[in-house]
Amino acid sequence: MRELGHFIGGRAVGGDGAFTDVFNPATGELAARAAVADAALVDRAVQVAAAAFPAWAATPPLKRARVMFRFKELLERDRKRLAALITAEHGKVLSDAEGEVTRGLEVVEFACGIPHLLKGEFTDQVGTGIDAWSTRSPLGVVAGITPFNFPIMVPMWMIPMALATGNCFILKPSEKDPSASLALAELLAEAGLPAGVFSVVQGGRVAVETLLAHPEIAAISFVGSTAIAEAVYRGGTAAGKRVQALGGAKNHLVVMPDADLEDVTNALMGAGYGSAGERCMAVSVAVAVGGIGDRLVERLAERVRTLKVGPGTDPDSEMGPLVTAEHKAKVEGYIDIGVKEGAQLVVDGRGLSLQGYERGFFLGGSLFDHVTPLMRIHAEEIFGPVLSVVRAHDLGEAVGIINEHTYGNGASIYTAHGGAARDFAEKTKAGMIGVNIPIPVPMAFHSFGGWKRSLFGDHHIHGPEGVRFYTRYKAVTQRWPGEKRRAAEFVMPTLGH
Ligand code: NAD
Repeated sequence: MRELGHFIGGRAVGGDGAFTDVFNPATGELAARAAVADAALVDRAVQVAAAAFPAWAATPPLKRARVMFRFKELLERDRKRLAALITAEHGKVLSDAEGEVTRGLEVVEFACGIPHLLKGEFTDQVGTGIDAWSTRSPLGVVAGITPFNFPIMVPMWMIPMALATGNCFILKPSEKDPSASLALAELLAEAGLPAGVFSVVQGGRVAVETLLAHPEIAAISFVGSTAIAEAVYRGGTAAGKRVQALGGAKNHLVVMPDADLEDVTNALMGAGYGSAGERCMAVSVAVAVGGIGDRLVERLAERVRTLKVGPGTDPDSEMGPLVTAEHKAKVEGYIDIGVKEGAQLVVDGRGLSLQGYERGFFLGGSLFDHVTPLMRIHAEEIFGPVLSVVRAHDLGEAVGIINEHTYGNGASIYTAHGGAARDFAEKTKAGMIGVNIPIPVPMAFHSFGGWKRSLFGDHHIHGPEGVRFYTRYKAVTQRWPGEKRRAAEFVMPTLGH
């Protein structure tokens, strides 16, 4: 049995306590076992990182950027290998896994510009002979806790930003697909990152709670489900740490009566069923405005019925399996709930069996029509290949449905009308808005994050917000006295009004 351990002090460290099972979701077979860190191991990783911090923080940003440049080259070299690692443990199709690696790599590209991003501001002569400037200093040892659904991209929202700004970073990846984290650690070491600056600790709740309470941890970035995000935010901030905690989502796509139906059907198929709906930016609700609902559902149903479901390694597959048997059961449970609640199940993905992959965690695409806002299948995150269609009379009602929802990650509109699009972008309470774009994930040089219960904290992730999150601001005011000494001054310094 393949064993996946930790990575501390620049080298792999085996597990010596508990282990957890890692599956291949396409075959349902046990693929590896991953170590589960206890508090002592996490403490060891933090101490090693704390010892590495002073030298890394003192390394000029240009030299840190050069490590990022080499890291970028290695990611490009190993793009296909990394994608294969993702598919083997997550299940998503290989082309999608490669796209994930690219989106992670783009954050490294942004971090390569760190000397420019850390330049700060300078004012000549804030007073006579006095200059002022600002700097941004690293925080110290920071930690990232990441979900199963993007084992490369989500850690990479954090790692390049934290390292390039001069911090040491400890990653606690998802226990469901831990191989990618170790591959990243090896590539960073190969890129010349000093030992101890980046570590990986495998595990679950105990590792997270140890990080939250540890006095040497200055900041926590978390991405995962809302209940855990909120607990991490409360625990981390109570311990005096800076925390950004990104949670769950329910993303709506509003279909206006003037939308191009072919275009919007394609958009909903990709955004609803891509990665088996296991994306925080997946579109799980289509809001059909005016009379477009029947035509939309008719087209969607035809496409969902012919969706190509298969192993992620098959280039013909459009959608792979769900990540675990438990998660598949949870999603099936939501389909049962929707039927009981009185929504119309137009396409039922349950009971799918694939020849040769009978034990895999596959579920076909499902489509519900006539879903109403108060139904649980609308109110809660399903995180599977289940798309709900809600009907609304006009744009105002559609925006109201989105704004009243607990979550506020992303929301999109498909329309040919500029005024409607502008209104939507202005009034919708969500962190990321798409206009004729189904999944409006910001590029690496912007920042990613939601509103409401999709994000706890003050900062969105990566991009300019990432630089701010991982640094502390300092303002310096300086005068070099000439020959004349100044007498003691007992008034607040002003420019002499
Ligand atoms: P999860 O909350 O189960 O796990 C996330 C992380 O928290 C993992 O590292 C896990 O080991 C750890 N964890 C789990 N239970 C814990 C506990 N009781 N105490 C402390 N730590 C614990 O999430 P998941 O199932 O891996 O990922 C799917 C969820 O992540 C979805 O809700 C999805 O919307 C969300 N997500 C959000 C974003 C975003 O940007 N907002 C991005 C990706 C995923």
